[in-house]
Amino acid sequence: MKPRRVSAVSSNYFCSRQGEWEDYFSRQGCEVEAKLKVKLLQHTYEPEKLVASAARLCYSSSGINDIMEGLDEEETSRFINMLMSMGHESPVEHVSFTFGIEGVSRSLLAQITRHRIASYSVKSQRWVKEGQFEYIIPPEINGIPEAREIFLQAMREDQERYDALVEVLFAQHLQVFLNEGKPETEARRDAQKKAIEDARYVLPNACETKMVVTMNARSLYNFFRQRCCNRAQWEIHELADEMLRLVRQVAPALFHRAGPGCYVLGRCPEGKMTCGKAKEVKNKYQIG
Ligand SMILES: Cc1cc2nc3c(=O)[nH]c(=O)nc-3n(C[C@H](O)[C@H](O)[C@H](O)COP(=O)(O)OP(=O)(O)OC[C@H]3O[C@@H](n4cnc5c(N)ncnc54)[C@H](O)[C@@H]3O)c2cc1C
Repeated sequence: MKPRRVSAVSSNYFCSRQGEWEDYFSRQGCEVEAKLKVKLLQHTYEPEKLVASAARLCYSSSGINDIMEGLDEEETSRFINMLMSMGHESPVEHVSFTFGIEGVSRSLLAQITRHRIASYSVKSQRWVKEGQFEYIIPPEINGIPEAREIFLQAMREDQERYDALVEVLFAQHLQVFLNEGKPETEARRDAQKKAIEDARYVLPNACETKMVVTMNARSLYNFFRQRCCNRAQWEIHELADEMLRLVRQVAPALFHRAGPGCYVLGRCPEGKMTCGKAKEVKNKYQIG
């Protein structure tokens, strides 16, 4: 199949959706820089009240029939503050938050999935073809025209190699499947999948991905301590800041003390590696 070239302007429509196989070659030349997008998809119902009720069970004579009773905002905050001041974090594990995340790189994926106390669903490169892959440009590269041009050239070359591999592998697999007697539609579908899953090995770390991530509040505390820190890489730092902003909107009492290590502990835990900007950091994360 001969690639059909389309202009950057007219092809933007194709960039915004997953096209059919026939669109595969028609999406070349798109504007493909992806931007971070984070959405809090869902969270435990009344998360702060649930945490406070778990704390109440620990520290009062209340039983399960009445632990949720009469927990107004003030009482809820009181229980949560007590837990935090004692470092008693297990009650906050009862509430979880689910985020939809787009416009992040496969580099970020490697970093975020190191956080094991979480659940992840990630866009598959085995099943979804990268008709025109989108990518993340690091700001430092974006800010230097010469570096940006080298980067963009690398992306174009990666795409070309991916496309070429898909084409060669697809033709080869299709022939084999047809020779085996598979009906054409099935042979094409299977050949496409087989081609994509091997061709993806040439895709770069910059390649955009999408995921759904669920963490409980305790795991989020740990995530924010590490990733809101100035020592974390810019991309996961940006993501962590946005996730923190979103959870603070729905559970301010639970998260007003959450943030990078120095903000939470009142001292930098990074030792010699400190960024030395504790005051700035405190101002950034402090509410009110
Ligand atoms: C600035 C920075 C630099 C980094 N550099 C590197 C690097 O060079 N190389 C590298 O490999 N990683 C690196 N990491 C990743 C880091 O080592 C962690 O893997 C990652 O941040 C996840 O943290 P976590 O284990 O606390 O989170 P989670 O996996 O969510 O675990 C949460 C907590 O549960 C407990 N826990 C979980 N699993 C176990 C277990 N098996 N045994 C005992 N306790 C457990 C621990 O208390 C842990 O803190 C870096 C992280 C940061 C923030």
